[in-house]
Amino acid sequence: MRPTVLLRGYSVEVRRLLIILSLCALVGLWLDHVVWALLVGSLFYLAWMVWQIRRLNLWLLRKNDEPPPESSGIWGDLFDNIYHLQRRQVQEKNSLQAVINRVQETSAALRDGVIVLDWRGCLDWWNPSAQRLLGFHSSDQGKSVINFIRHPRFVSYFEEGDYSEPLEVPSPRFTSKQLQFQVTRFGRNERLIVVRDVTQLHKLEQMRQDFVANVSHELRTPLTVISGYLETLSDSGTDLSPPWQRALAQMQQQSKRMSLLINDLITLSKLETTESGHNHKPVNLEPLLHTVKSEAQALSADKSQTITLEVQTPGLQLQGNEKELHSAFSNLVTNAVKYTPAGGKIAMRLWQAHQQIFFSVSDNGPGFDSKHIPHLTQRFYRVEQSRNSGTGGTGLGLAIVKHVLLRHDGELQITSEPGVGSIFTCVFSPPPMSH
Ligand code: ADP
Repeated sequence: MRPTVLLRGYSVEVRRLLIILSLCALVGLWLDHVVWALLVGSLFYLAWMVWQIRRLNLWLLRKNDEPPPESSGIWGDLFDNIYHLQRRQVQEKNSLQAVINRVQETSAALRDGVIVLDWRGCLDWWNPSAQRLLGFHSSDQGKSVINFIRHPRFVSYFEEGDYSEPLEVPSPRFTSKQLQFQVTRFGRNERLIVVRDVTQLHKLEQMRQDFVANVSHELRTPLTVISGYLETLSDSGTDLSPPWQRALAQMQQQSKRMSLLINDLITLSKLETTESGHNHKPVNLEPLLHTVKSEAQALSADKSQTITLEVQTPGLQLQGNEKELHSAFSNLVTNAVKYTPAGGKIAMRLWQAHQQIFFSVSDNGPGFDSKHIPHLTQRFYRVEQSRNSGTGGTGLGLAIVKHVLLRHDGELQITSEPGVGSIFTCVFSPPPMSH
């Protein structure tokens, strides 16, 4: 449509020019000065053009919404077209502003804090909840987020750049509050942080951990007393009738099981409640595994299993807590001894590859279907209830292994085939040693 409109204005303009020049030529003929008359006419037309350009310029310079000056021909079209273009731009700007306002209203209504950071990690925009939770002021725009959330765990989480898991740290503003930070990258290395107040959840989790720890500690003393009396009774057991002797033996077995359970619960709650990374020292893995092997041999004495230890990379060290690593390795080997029938083979292997340290325990025991693998490290999960009745397991062993590995930059890989055997592999990916 626009070209025809422009063309109409253009033809009006050409006609206007021709009429002016024809009139000038006629006057020129009458006065006998055609060239001069044409020159005067052209100059008049040029002056008129310059005046129109000046009007256009003055109108463009006026910032208000004034309609364009009246004009005809090509200038009239030009004024109208520019005016329409301006109107359309204003409308588009208004609708974009409406979208921005809506987004801002929505994020203002969010209970979670939302922070947008630029590529340098400096504050670009935040919603009122973020302001409330972290105490930002409008003058803080452009300042680094690290200036406001100084907790060392947040600083290393933010700088390391692995945001696959959210991070929980105490609020920098109210120490009684616990905040969860989830960072997402977008655009050109800009970052979006969602801040959530998880104080209530944290309290509940704390209560659960405290409850388990307290109950386990409280149960320990009465159980020690009961086991003590049971021992005394069985020492003088010769006076008891055979049914009583059987009952006593069973009571002793169950109290031993209960004490194992309590010890495992205490170990687990310690792993959950203490900050990882404390007291980490270089641990020599080879001697540790020799100890675990001799303990396993003692345990499997009457099952005559073959237990081997193959160290493919000698002298391996791991930065960690020796007691925790011992407990994890020993749980894996103990399971292999427990579940592998008499005469079976259990192989422990230690090696290093691609900066990772591997420790595996394989057995030719009963194995299990792969559908169980994702659940094995859950507390009290058992592949078959009946299989475990005689093993004296607590159902917490692999949960302990998982927790220990998590605290040592490691993970547990499990493969198993029913009737063939199982392989449990600990894979450690230690951060490069700083010299
Ligand atoms: P438990 O104290 O019952 O052994 P764990 O957490 O150590 O508990 O193990 C969970 C379950 O995984 C066990 O109950 C058992 O069913 C299965 N399991 C663990 N290790 C082996 C293994 N080497 N061979 C076969 N099954 C195993």
